[in-house]
Amino acid sequence: MKNIIFTVVSLLIIIPVISQNSQAQGDSLMLRKIYDMSLMQGKSYDWLDHLSNKIGGRLSGSYQAQQAVEYTKAELENIGLDKVWLQPVMVPKWTRGSKEFAYVETSPGTTRNVNITALGGSVATPAGGTKAPVIEVQGIEDLERYGKEQIKGKIVFFNRPMRPGLISTFEAYGGCVDQRYSGAAEAGKYGAAGVIVRSMNLRMDDYPHTGSMSYGETPVSQRIPAAAISTNDAAYLSGILKMNKDLKLYFKLNSEQHEDVQSYNVIGEITGSEYPEEIMVVGAHLDSWDIGDGAHDDGAGVVQSMEVLRLFKEIGYKPKRTIRVVLFMNEENGLRGGNKYAEVAKSKNEEHIFALESDAGGFTPRGFSFDADKAQFAQIQSWKGLFKPYLIHYFELGGSGADIGPLKQGDVVLAGLRPDSQRYFDHHHAANDTFEHVNKRELELGAATMASLVYLVDNYGIKRININTTEKL
Ligand SMILES: [Zn+2]
Repeated sequence: MKNIIFTVVSLLIIIPVISQNSQAQGDSLMLRKIYDMSLMQGKSYDWLDHLSNKIGGRLSGSYQAQQAVEYTKAELENIGLDKVWLQPVMVPKWTRGSKEFAYVETSPGTTRNVNITALGGSVATPAGGTKAPVIEVQGIEDLERYGKEQIKGKIVFFNRPMRPGLISTFEAYGGCVDQRYSGAAEAGKYGAAGVIVRSMNLRMDDYPHTGSMSYGETPVSQRIPAAAISTNDAAYLSGILKMNKDLKLYFKLNSEQHEDVQSYNVIGEITGSEYPEEIMVVGAHLDSWDIGDGAHDDGAGVVQSMEVLRLFKEIGYKPKRTIRVVLFMNEENGLRGGNKYAEVAKSKNEEHIFALESDAGGFTPRGFSFDADKAQFAQIQSWKGLFKPYLIHYFELGGSGADIGPLKQGDVVLAGLRPDSQRYFDHHHAANDTFEHVNKRELELGAATMASLVYLVDNYGIKRININTTEKL
């Protein structure tokens, strides 16, 4: 009798352990399959080639953005998803016009050209360009110190560099980007004639980096033109200013703001076999800046997100939950696509449990950042070991992605793919964000890493923490 009791008790202990082990083994085999398929028969690189080289920069409202909508929709249809559709969204349309031009004039007739690019959303300079003395500042907070007396009629040169000591280059970017985003609105209040911003780039080179800016509440008639200058030319300008405070900078921008135009988010889904009402999103933004071809930002994320669904189809994995790929329009200068997707999801009472965005370049994946509750995060961390063979180790709480941010509500877990960020800002929003700077294997590893996490969330679901929300749903 004692023996029987002992055996039964032992089995009760052993059986769950065995089934847990075989589950983990099944998961690890599935991840291996996903990585094999992505690395040996991947499609992401070919798609990126087309987006970058056949279509090119895809600024919202442009012909190229519309081409990208049509191309990705057709490719998603080719994968054989259950549903593919376009979600209409109105987007702003800003055009750069002919190439910008700038020079530093150290004395009448003595000039040196410098590399600039208009910031997205900037007004044009007057037809003859803007020429004025320059005042260098290290940030918006300096404006008050100098006051109207020293700023009025001058071009304000924002020259605070990204901090090289920070290991996360995104953190370094975050420490500077207010100069680009709000510099013109703030300097305008002091009567500045224009704004030149040091490019958000850790490397010294000749590429100016564009990006979004806002005039806030500034009336149209009081808006001043704003451009980014390359890091090499920022260093030159700063150096020569120290010797010659009276030098002048000339710049000419030809940009124009138009009426909003019709565009689309591109969406495709595999409908879940057991819990179709539980939706998981994997996405990226389809628009890009216009001066490169947007290969890293965010062509890489677009093709990786498409690849997640293709990988599942190819290896014959049938998800229990609904997996949607969403290619958002207008992240760069409006976030209209991200807001529209969340708005429609809410109006339809859709239940999103998870969203993953790839918008940090097509570099070697290191892991993910999560916007999740403690218990949910603990659940996700329990999967970390499965990623070890693929050198994926970074699982941290933190931001996710701009486009999926508006989905934050109730229990949904948001995540962002975190590739190595050291070289991202060499290319970000610049003319050298081009296809040849994306490595095929790194891109494919990213797609497989995303697919692996989506597979695990699909297999196990996400812990519910918000009781009120659960009841409502
Ligand atoms: Zn981006």
